[in-house]
Amino acid sequence: MELRRELLTAEMIDPGTGETVRTTIDVRTDPLTGHSSRILPERGLMPAIDFDLAALARQTEPGCPFCPDRIERLTPRLTAAITPEGRFIRGEAVLFANLHAYSSHSSVSVYSPRLHYLPLDGMTSEILADNLATQVAFAKAVMAAEPRSRWASINANHMLPSGSSLFHPHMQGIVDSQPTTLQRMLAELPPQRFSDYLDAERRSSERYLGDTGRVEWLASFAPIAPAELRAFAAGVCSPAELDGDLIAELAHGLALALGGYAQMGFQSFNLAVYGAPPGTEGYPLNLRLACRSNPRPLYRSDSTFLERLHWEGAVDLAPEAVAQQVGERFRA
Ligand SMILES: [Zn+2]
Repeated sequence: MELRRELLTAEMIDPGTGETVRTTIDVRTDPLTGHSSRILPERGLMPAIDFDLAALARQTEPGCPFCPDRIERLTPRLTAAITPEGRFIRGEAVLFANLHAYSSHSSVSVYSPRLHYLPLDGMTSEILADNLATQVAFAKAVMAAEPRSRWASINANHMLPSGSSLFHPHMQGIVDSQPTTLQRMLAELPPQRFSDYLDAERRSSERYLGDTGRVEWLASFAPIAPAELRAFAAGVCSPAELDGDLIAELAHGLALALGGYAQMGFQSFNLAVYGAPPGTEGYPLNLRLACRSNPRPLYRSDSTFLERLHWEGAVDLAPEAVAQQVGERFRA
C-alpha cells in the first residue's frame, strides 16, 4: 500500500521585507477512510498548558454529580433489563446511564468518584482498565438484552475543550442499532485494507509506535486532530468481545499514550474505540485518540471550518514528530 501525499506550495509577499515567502502544505490521504489532512509547518497552534487545572478542579467540585456522596443520588440508573443493580462497578470505576442520551443505550463511566481531578499523567493502566471494564460489561449486557443493538463504541471527551460538559473525568459508551458514520465506513472496509496499512507503517517505522502484545499502535498518517494516535487489535471486533487480558493491554497502551500527551503539555483529549457488530469477519477493533486545545480562557479551538465542515484535518504537529515523542514510551 502506498501512503498518498502531495506537497503544495503557498507563496506570499512578506509585509516587512517585500520578499517572496514560500510555505509547504503536506496533504495526505487517510488509507482507511479516504479523508484528507493538511500537515502545516509548526506555527504554535497547540500551546502547552499554562492554566491552573487544579484550581478549576477545586472550583467545580462542590455540587459535582460524579463525586462521592452525590453520584448515588444524582446519576440515572440503567434499566433492570440491562442490569438489576442499575450500575456497573469495576474497581473504583462506576458506569451509569447518560442523562443526555445520544443513542438508544448511552452510558457515562467515571474513573472513580474520588478522582474529580485526574491530570493525564495520573491516568494509570489500572484506572483505565477498570473504566474500560465497566464499558465492556455494559456493551455485553445491552447486546444480550437487545440483540439488534450490535454497534458499540467507547469514547471520551476529556476536559472542556473536547466537548465535555462536566469537569469530572469520565468515558462514554454508545451501544446502538445504528452505527456512527465512521463506524459504518470502517466496518465496510475489506479486512485486507487494515493489514496493508499496518504492514506499510511497520515497514516505514516513521509513525509506528510498537505493539503491546496483541495491540499495535501508530501515529495517524493523515490525522483529523492534533497528535492523533491509532491502535488496532486483531481477532476482536467489538468492545463486547474484549476479555480481561485485552482490556488490561488496551489500558496499558492508553496510559502510555496519555502520559506522552501530558509530557507534550496537553491535558484535553478525545477517544473513540470503533466497534463493529460482534463476529464481523476480519475487522480489527480500532481506536483513535487525539489531543484537543488546552483549557484556558479565550482558547483557540483546534476544530475549525476545515474539520467540522470540510471533514479535513489541519494540524501543525507532524505525525512523525508525535511518533518520536510518544514512541519512546512504547519502546521503553
Ligand atoms: Zn466530581
